[in-house]
Amino acid sequence: MNKFDVIVVGAGTGGCLTAKTVAKAGLKVCMIDQKPEQKIGDKVCGDAIGKHHFDNIKLAPPSGKELEQKIDGIKVYSPDMETIVTVQGEGVHGYLVNRQLFGQRLLKEAKDTGATLMDSIMVTNPIINDDFVAGVSVKDTVTGEKNEIRAQVVVDASGHSAVLRKKLPPEFGIEAEVADEDVEICYREIREVKEQISEPGYCKIYLDLQRFPGGYCWIFPKNSNIVNAGLGVAMTKGFPNPKQLYHEYVLSMTLFKDSQLLTGGGGLVPTRRPISPMVANGIIIIGDAACQVNPIHGGGIGSSMMGGVKAAEVIVGALEKGDVSREVLWPYTGMFMEFYGAKQAGLDVFRMLLQRLTNKEMNYGMQHHLITDDDLLKASMGEDLKLNITEKTSRLFKGVGCLSLLRKLNTTAKLMTETKELHRNYPPSPEGLAEWEEKTRQIVEKAKNM
Ligand SMILES: Cc1cc2nc3c(=O)[nH]c(=O)nc-3n(C[C@H](O)[C@H](O)[C@H](O)COP(=O)(O)OP(=O)(O)OC[C@H]3O[C@@H](n4cnc5c(N)ncnc54)[C@H](O)[C@@H]3O)c2cc1C
Repeated sequence: MNKFDVIVVGAGTGGCLTAKTVAKAGLKVCMIDQKPEQKIGDKVCGDAIGKHHFDNIKLAPPSGKELEQKIDGIKVYSPDMETIVTVQGEGVHGYLVNRQLFGQRLLKEAKDTGATLMDSIMVTNPIINDDFVAGVSVKDTVTGEKNEIRAQVVVDASGHSAVLRKKLPPEFGIEAEVADEDVEICYREIREVKEQISEPGYCKIYLDLQRFPGGYCWIFPKNSNIVNAGLGVAMTKGFPNPKQLYHEYVLSMTLFKDSQLLTGGGGLVPTRRPISPMVANGIIIIGDAACQVNPIHGGGIGSSMMGGVKAAEVIVGALEKGDVSREVLWPYTGMFMEFYGAKQAGLDVFRMLLQRLTNKEMNYGMQHHLITDDDLLKASMGEDLKLNITEKTSRLFKGVGCLSLLRKLNTTAKLMTETKELHRNYPPSPEGLAEWEEKTRQIVEKAKNM
């Protein structure tokens, strides 16, 4: 009988943690994924995860073959390559993982806890009964057979494709569309290089808004001679083809001379504040489907797992009460905002500034350490953005025609603080939502018009 307490659509990082946590509470849960089981976890990705994400949800860190490289820090290169900002310390310690083995481990843990997996099954639509999501329509990707699977609560953990979020009726009040300009389109390869990689414990990020508009290029070492290298650009009008850019600018680096392609591919990642709300009658949306990604670096593995754990806790409580209405599931969005979404909202404003800078402004800003390396780390961890602007830098920036950068940075810092405060105080019930959304809209508008 195709009836469960909970259906989780997508057995990615977020979906597996949701299913495992729900199963642990003794509920009957089923994960549905369009991929065959052995392909789950095999995703085009930068493969980097901060250590703190494992600590936060008490998940064992990667080890053995799953762990490819420990990360000690990140080096960020200015467009003119004159300045390198090194961010290091506890907050950026992390891991480069074998993405497939990592995904397979999460899947095994969810199954071992009692979750059922239906693989090679594509979810096509939500089933709506009496204004509640009551299940999903599915199609077997091998036989083409169609079916319906029902549950009391459905979780959309289908990643950027957000198969359910996009198909909910408008009266459910869920943001169906994410603007293209808030999405990064990426191309990434895993390559074996001839020369030994220097400082394999450091992930490298190259900023160049002319070459990689609205995005950046990354080179993350997987060991001493294999790298995960890619780039992303914002999907604004007329955006360039990331694969072509990769061939032009990345493979021309001396590091890649005589290198060998192991695997390559493209992917999309939403890089904005989270959607609001993330719940409706009988449904919770998590992970990339709810835009739970860090808007600056595009990392979303850790936050999807945390989003999954929190969603599961709310679902367990709702099922105990026997009420899966929007009102009872409501606390989920606020909980997520408190743990991660407020930080994301602040960084979303910072992203909008960074994407609109010129290379000249970026070079000057980095050269004169307008944000110190330490403060950059703190801001990326969610603290307020502190600016290092002195009388001397003001005079200097006026002299080279970059004074507007200081003004924009000041406004950004203020808007970041404002939006974080707003997101930390997410309305405790649906009544306050309209006012909250209007305030958010105004901040986003101001950030875009800077
Ligand atoms: C190029 C690139 C580089 C990235 N680099 C990093 C990085 O270095 N570090 C980091 O933390 N994050 C990175 N990210 C982001 C990260 O991959 C995602 O944020 C994270 O995987 C989100 O997890 P999720 O569970 O929400 O979705 P996913 O991991 O995408 O899982 C979604 C699952 O849903 C399944 N699915 C989708 N549609 C359906 C359907 N209709 N029916 C059934 N199943 C379906 C898919 O098969 C998939 O298994 C990167 C993303 C990209 C594109």
